[in-house]
Amino acid sequence: MPGAIATGAVCAATLGLAVGGCAYASLWPTSQIFGRTLIASGNGDEVALTFDDGPNDAATHQLLNVLARHEVRATFFNMGDYARAKPEIVREVVAAGHVVGNHTMSHPKMSIESATRIRQELTDCNAVLEDITGEAVKFFRPPFGARRPYVLRAARELGLTPVMWNVTGYDWNPIGVDRILANLDKGIAKNRLRGCGSNLLLHDGGHRAMGTARTDTVQAVDRLLSAHRATATRFVTVDTWVRE
Ligand SMILES: [Zn+2]
Repeated sequence: MPGAIATGAVCAATLGLAVGGCAYASLWPTSQIFGRTLIASGNGDEVALTFDDGPNDAATHQLLNVLARHEVRATFFNMGDYARAKPEIVREVVAAGHVVGNHTMSHPKMSIESATRIRQELTDCNAVLEDITGEAVKFFRPPFGARRPYVLRAARELGLTPVMWNVTGYDWNPIGVDRILANLDKGIAKNRLRGCGSNLLLHDGGHRAMGTARTDTVQAVDRLLSAHRATATRFVTVDTWVRE
C-alpha cells in the first residue's frame, strides 16, 4: 500500500492513516465514494500547486522559471507519451526539486476503459517516468478526474497514491489571467475558512496536443505567488500530505 490517503468529509486525522483529510462528502471531484484519494491536509495555510498534462515545450520551462524565482516547489502530473517525447523537460522538473506523478500515457477517460487498458496506461507511464528520472513514481492523477473502484485499486497495486484536488483554476478554458487567479483565490479562501489546505488544479500542458499555450496559467501562478509572499501561506508538494 502506498502511504496514507486523506480521509473524506472531515478535516482531521482519522483512521490513523492521514495527516489530515479535507474533502467534501459528496461533491465531485472531492467525492470519496469510489475510494479514498489524497486531496489536502487539515492546515488552511498549506497550498499545493499541481500541474497536469505536461511536459509541454511551450510552457513548462516558463513555469519552472516562475517557481524558481519564488522558491516554490510544485507537483507535476505528466503524460507518458509527452514525457517520452520530451524527457529533457521532465529531468529539468525533477532537478528543480518538484514532484512528478503519473497522469497515464495518453489521457484516456478511465471510467469507461477496460481493466487491461487502465493497467497498461498506468504501468507504461510509470516505466517511462522512472526510466527518465531514476526515481519511483508515487502519485497518480486520473485524467478528467474520472475514476471507478478498479482505477484506484490498480493505481494502489502499482504503489501509486491517487490524488484529486479541491480548487479548480479552469485554466483549460480561455478565461484570462484575472479569472484564473480569481478562481484560485476564491478556492483557497474557502478552504482556509473550513480549516482545509488547498490542492490547486492547473495545467502546464494540454492533453490534445504538445505545445498548448499556457501563458495565462504561468502569469496567474506568478501573481498568486507574489500575492502570498508575505503571508502565512506555505506552498507544498503533495508528498508533504502523506506519511509512511
Ligand atoms: Zn489531464
